[in-house]
This record gives sequence, C-alpha cells and structure tokens, in this order.
Amino acid sequence: MSIQLNNVSKTYHLKGRSVEALKPTSLKVETGEIYGLIGYSGAGKSTLLRLINLLEKPSAGSVIVGEDNLTELTPKALRIRRQKIGMIFQQFNLIESKTVYENIEFVLKASKYSKKDVPARIEELLKLVGLNDKSSINASNLSGGQKQRVGIARALANNPDILLCDEATSALDPDTTKSILNLLKNINKTLGITIVIITHEMEVIKEIADRVGVMSGGEIIESGETYSVFSHP
Ligand code: ADP
Ligand code: ADP
Repeated sequence: MSIQLNNVSKTYHLKGRSVEALKPTSLKVETGEIYGLIGYSGAGKSTLLRLINLLEKPSAGSVIVGEDNLTELTPKALRIRRQKIGMIFQQFNLIESKTVYENIEFVLKASKYSKKDVPARIEELLKLVGLNDKSSINASNLSGGQKQRVGIARALANNPDILLCDEATSALDPDTTKSILNLLKNINKTLGITIVIITHEMEVIKEIADRVGVMSGGEIIESGETYSVFSHP
C-alpha cells in the first residue's frame, strides 16, 4: 500500500512556545517499497512516522494511505485503518512478564480476531519470524534479537499493509541487526508489505532501503535512491 504526504506540517504548542517539528513536507512511498528516513535526533523523523501511524494529526496538509485520506476518516474508520499499520520499536515494547504467545495473543484479542483462529495464527507468525519453539517462554528471558522477532510477529498479527520501524535495530549488536534486517527484507519480499524505517544509522539504510530521505531541522533536505544519495562525497 502506498503512502503519500501532501504539504504536511506539524507544529507542537507548549505553554506559549511553538515548535515546528515538521515543515511542509511532501513524500510518496510506493507500494512494496522500503523507504528509509535518516537524521540526527530532533530532525523530525518520529513526528513524520507518528503522522503516518495516525498518532498525531497534521497541523496542515493531507496524509493519504492507499485510497484513504487519513485526515478525513471517521474515528471508527481510523481505528480499522490503524490495525493495518504495524509498528516496531527500539525497546521492543513487549510485556516482559508475559509469554511470547500472550504478547501476540494480546493484539489479536484487541482487534477482535476470530477466537478459534488465534492459536493457528500465532503458530504461523512464530514460524515466519523463526521462533517456533519459543511460544511458552517469558519475554523477559529472550535475547534482544528474539524480542524484536516477537515485536515483528506482533506487528504483523493483523496482516498490515504497512510496517513502520522506529530505530528498530538501534538496541542490537551488528550481527543481530543484520539478521533482523534480513527478516524485514524477507517480509517485504514475500508479503509485499510497504516498509518505512527511521534511524540515525547510515549502515541500516544502506543495507535495507530502496530510497532514502535525509531529514534535518524538520525537513527532508535530500532524497533519492539510496545508492545515489550516499555515493557522493
Ligand atoms: P526525531 O525523531 O528525528 O528525533 P522528533 O520528531 O522526535 O525528531 O522531534 C522533532 C522536534 O519536535 C524536536 O525539536 C522535538 O523536541 C519536538 N517534539 C517532538 N515531539 C514533541 C511533542 N510531543 N511536543 C513538543 N515538541 C515535540
Ligand atoms: P525519540 O527521539 O526517541 O523518537 P521522542 O519523539 O519521544 O523520542 O522525543 C524527541 C524529543 O521531543 C525529545 O527531545 C523530547 O524532549 C521532545 N518531546 C517529546 N514529547 C514531548 C512533549 N510532550 N513535550 C515536550 N517535548 C517533547
């Protein structure tokens, strides 16, 4: 599914002070593409991601996902749309005291997934991320890479069209980062899911992104095919 931002901006207002976190920005991510956004902390990357994920409303402009103009959807339609956008995080955001199974079951229950289909769906997801034998292990007993695999399984539970990755490998060592990026590439290829990844790590973008936008000061200051953006001195 494609993502389109038309002159989208976001200004936060805090006690009489305003911060323009995102200046008017236009961007098109094509269906099935892996798009990277790179920039230092404070550049506006998370703000842009939260606008796609409907966690923030734009101050101006429109966000179009597939055929839907998100700024025009009813609250109910928004909720349904959100279930079709998966997200993974730097700190994995698992419920540490619960098992791998329960961490995934939780989102399927929240989306009112047919109860009788839940066990088979969880088995399928765990197979997809290579954790078939970890179903009954507590999340707290997993390695970082395994935790992110659970995070990916959870994000894919409702068959999303889009996967958003917020510094998803920043807490992992280089080898584990590689294996998670390979899993994401595989998911992109086999399931056709559009992926947007934000990171401050150039190596991650070089490894995985088809195209990249370089963000600074609330703007995309450069964009294009990854190899061409990073090829000049
Ligand atoms: P990045 O993800 O690239 O680190 P952010 O999108 O988090 O950048 O932040 C962009 C700017 O917006 C920063 O100046 C940040 O302090 C500010 N900002 C982000 N979120 C909020 C918020 N909820 N309220 C006020 N300011 C915010
Ligand atoms: P990250 O950079 O890890 O994505 P955030 O987006 O939460 O983290 O925050 C980025 C910056 O925005 C931080 O420096 C934080 O101080 C600022 N920020 C986030 N939320 C708020 C808020 N509600 N009010 C003021 N500043 C905020």
